[in-house]
Amino acid sequence: MLDYHLHLWPHHEHDTPLRLEQLAEYCARAEAAGVTELALTEHLFRFRQADALLGGFWDDERVPPALAESMAGYWKFHATADLDAYVACAQEAKEAGLPVVIGLEVDYYEDRMDTVAGLLAGYPFDVLLGSVHWVGGWRFDDLDDPVSMAEWSVRDVDACWDSYTRALEELAATRSCDVLAHPDLMKVAGHVPDAPAEWWDRMAEAAASSGMAAELSSAGWRKPAGEQYPALGLLERFVACGVPLTTASDAHHLDHVAHRADDLRAVLASVGVGVLQGYRGRDPHPVVVSRSAGAGTGTVA
Ligand SMILES: [Zn+2]
Ligand SMILES: [Zn+2]
Repeated sequence: MLDYHLHLWPHHEHDTPLRLEQLAEYCARAEAAGVTELALTEHLFRFRQADALLGGFWDDERVPPALAESMAGYWKFHATADLDAYVACAQEAKEAGLPVVIGLEVDYYEDRMDTVAGLLAGYPFDVLLGSVHWVGGWRFDDLDDPVSMAEWSVRDVDACWDSYTRALEELAATRSCDVLAHPDLMKVAGHVPDAPAEWWDRMAEAAASSGMAAELSSAGWRKPAGEQYPALGLLERFVACGVPLTTASDAHHLDHVAHRADDLRAVLASVGVGVLQGYRGRDPHPVVVSRSAGAGTGTVA
């Protein structure tokens, strides 16, 4: 079992020092839940290097002024850490024998993914998550931002899903990342089309044709969506298309590390998946879904 989506800092914190002890605590908690390997995947936009390259992407006439202002403030708050120090800390954890790999959660930046790839090529990443957290400068998943959430009352849900899916397709086509994180994140605030199948089909096709894996995440259970990412219908499509899977908590602090790992195991079992995909140096390898830590190790009586 994997926890291939972990953050070091909650969104409301910045300038929090990196600590090897924190990573050791993450590993101990994961191990207790039967999770054997962790990927550290902080948001790219938390780093000054990203701000220098990508900051201001919201200055686009298609982005409404209120959303552009909100995004500018969000970036200013978040983009304070040093990517070199983050990678060095993850490397140190790896060298100390902790079961971690070095990753990053990368957003989709329209027409700028070559720039992103150029920056990231300079680091020894094991795995890169590809995420769509905003479309057209709108942070549809930022439940704490009233300006962003107000958009849900004026936008058409099907149109939102269409924009999201198009961004996800474009991200996948760039082949700049390895794993599609929380693939149906557009449901985060609880808004789902009456007939989501057409979007699920497109998401599964985007993953399959790009060679990306997809993430099965417990984070959706902690949100208004109230279910894992992806929904069962989308997960079944990924499996049918041969898209490999990772498992993840998307924890932003220790308490959520390996969150509901047993429930993720049950979801995997329900779709007949017994092998996940791990990464080293961005090369995939199979990882057998281990038994629950509480399930014992040997013969069933
Ligand atoms: Zn995310
Ligand atoms: Zn995340």
